[in-house]
Amino acid sequence: MSQTSGQVDVAIVGGGIAGMACAFHLQEKAAAAGKAVSYALLEQSERWGGKLRTETIDGYGDAPFIVEAGPDSFITQKPWGLQLARQLGLESKFLPTNDHKRRTFVLHSGRPVAMPDGVLLIVPTKFTPFALTPLISPLGKLRMGMDLFLPAKTDDADETLADFIQRRLGREALDKLAEPLLSGIYNAEAEKQSVLATFPRFREMEKQHGSLMRGMLASRKARTAAASPTGNGDGNGSKPLSMFMSLAGGMEEMAAALRARLTGDCRLTTGVESIQAAGAGYRLALSDSTALEAGAVVLAVPTYVAGPLLAGIAPTAAAGLGEIRYVSTGTISLAYKRDEINHPLDGFGVVIPRSENRPINAITWTSTKFDQRVPDGYALLRVFFGGSRSPEMMQRSDAEIEQIARQELRAIMDIDATPLFHRIFRWQKATPQYDVGHRERVAAMEAALPAGLHLTGSPYRGIGIPDCIHQAQQTAEKILDIG
Ligand SMILES: Cc1cc2nc3c(=O)[nH]c(=O)nc-3n(C[C@H](O)[C@H](O)[C@H](O)COP(=O)(O)OP(=O)(O)OC[C@H]3O[C@@H](n4cnc5c(N)ncnc54)[C@H](O)[C@@H]3O)c2cc1C
Repeated sequence: MSQTSGQVDVAIVGGGIAGMACAFHLQEKAAAAGKAVSYALLEQSERWGGKLRTETIDGYGDAPFIVEAGPDSFITQKPWGLQLARQLGLESKFLPTNDHKRRTFVLHSGRPVAMPDGVLLIVPTKFTPFALTPLISPLGKLRMGMDLFLPAKTDDADETLADFIQRRLGREALDKLAEPLLSGIYNAEAEKQSVLATFPRFREMEKQHGSLMRGMLASRKARTAAASPTGNGDGNGSKPLSMFMSLAGGMEEMAAALRARLTGDCRLTTGVESIQAAGAGYRLALSDSTALEAGAVVLAVPTYVAGPLLAGIAPTAAAGLGEIRYVSTGTISLAYKRDEINHPLDGFGVVIPRSENRPINAITWTSTKFDQRVPDGYALLRVFFGGSRSPEMMQRSDAEIEQIARQELRAIMDIDATPLFHRIFRWQKATPQYDVGHRERVAAMEAALPAGLHLTGSPYRGIGIPDCIHQAQQTAEKILDIG
């Protein structure tokens, strides 16, 4: 039997945002409750943060290029990301999106067409700009308007995002708006994606207001009221919060700030290879050939890692974990001299409907979306590929990816310039798919877990950073029995 390298109350497997946030919450809540809780955070790679990864590139002028490999921001409507960042003292680093420049383009017959003003997520809330947009045909617009009159579905059965959108807004809204915008976030296929696991608010709006449009208008009204000087969104009478927030030095700053605050046994290059029941707890075999004993274990790793680890001790949960599909995605960021690009970059970027049949999925105009991402006089663009849309791109060489990205930028944005540099990041089996029935599958897996075993993170109840943090905090509270 391998030598024991420690004994802790809680072993947390995976040093991405979920594992780190779980460790931090456990530490802080235990201290506040006067409980002594020891933990080990085990990360197989050489760095903390998992998908939170930022590259800083100097040498081009007054400031560095900040290139994100993974997430570039987090949504502020779900409070847990913002709250954690504040708790970590990162407020001075908050970098909101440039909301006065917010405009999304949709590729339409090969050319970017601006999303009409007043479209919230995918739902039109202003009549004139919507009536004038060439993006949706007159018949398509009429069909979308029927949302106001169609009866609401009142049961709680799950359905695909495609079925839901077609039911309320019609086929064109699905193709031109919902599929690129909503499935794009999840790198998912609308025909398989669970509406209840990914956009439950839509179904709530339908139930409560009888229509998506009426629901969106009501939620906009509520947000405007909350942001007014008498009832502001962030409690200090200032302007409303940006919908998305990043950090000045990039999203990896969140992982660095978390790591700096963790006082437990944090180990890099330490993968967990197997888990066995041992007495009232568990024995984890580690990649350095030692073993760790723990009263409780949190698995904050992808399901295809968690499943095999649980096969011997929680076979039912392990079988459920095996059912969750993943897709692989990638991004290429390209840096330019601003004056070598003719395009106005007057928005946050372009989303691309599947029906356009392009080898890429979206383009973010990073240097418009955020300040402090490029030195003065430069521009940064980020092209997304892979997922269920263009899986073949994941097999391409770096040279091919660069060539295809440049071809696409030429075709879509008339950019002929040679980039100063580019950075490619491939995320193999990175994005869990929330197929129809996801919520029930997750609940069944959790119910099948023996005492002391916990699952948390992006595969379960939300892939965005705030949701990962929230799940991690709930897991920590469950362990401390204060949830
Ligand atoms: C390209 C891209 C863009 C994104 N954009 C956004 C965005 O803008 N906003 C947003 O909110 N979200 C975004 N996301 C999603 C979000 O980044 C992820 O869902 C989230 O970071 C996942 O966190 P996690 O801790 O669950 O998993 P991960 O970050 O995957 O962490 C899991 C960790 O477990 C480790 N591990 C694996 N196996 C073992 C083992 N056997 N032993 C020990 N450790 C192990 C891994 O090395 C990894 O560090 C994006 C994702 C990608 C890929």
